[in-house]
Amino acid sequence: MTELFKYEDERESESAARVRALEALLIEKGVIGSDSVDTVLGHFETIAGPFNGARIVARAWVDPAFRQRLIEDTPKAIAELDLPRGMEGAEGEHMAAVANGDGVHNLIICTLCSCYPWPVLGLPPYWYKDPVFRARGVREPRAVLKEFGVPLPDDIQVKVWDSSAQIRWFVVPERPAGTEGMSEAELAALVTPESMMGVALVAPPAQPVAAG
Ligand code: FE
Repeated sequence: MTELFKYEDERESESAARVRALEALLIEKGVIGSDSVDTVLGHFETIAGPFNGARIVARAWVDPAFRQRLIEDTPKAIAELDLPRGMEGAEGEHMAAVANGDGVHNLIICTLCSCYPWPVLGLPPYWYKDPVFRARGVREPRAVLKEFGVPLPDDIQVKVWDSSAQIRWFVVPERPAGTEGMSEAELAALVTPESMMGVALVAPPAQPVAAG
């Protein structure tokens, strides 16, 4: 992953210390319980996270009709899958998928703040909220993508999708070559959050998997 939009290490530890102090104060004042923060974190570890997006992408790769439905009505198509409850809430009501391929590469961004499709991707990384990323992502997406390690040929069109409270985008990346014999679960394991944000491609498996 890119070091490009990574904050200084101290910023991380300073934020962590601030969060711990705030949590302790809120517990002391009786605003939250002692397990409230763990409950929220657990939600994003087990219920809402990129593991959901990866399953959706894998299904789209093996089932072109599903892929089509996913693009046309994302929440409705997602509801077909046996995913954890809550896909329709917590920022999930207005999700929309865009697919890479056919000469198009998609990049998601929130120019205003940090809108993100939580149910399928979890919480956004630090750099997604970075004003520099948000500004440059729309102004010079090709240059930004190149710095992320995704140099796109000139004949590939780049589309930038600005998420908001109304629509939260995610990307269906292209299925890599050499994955013909893989199961849906094996395919899902290849899909990274970055690929569903459009700042990475899905890498083919290290060992080609034999068909059949
Ligand atoms: Fe936002």
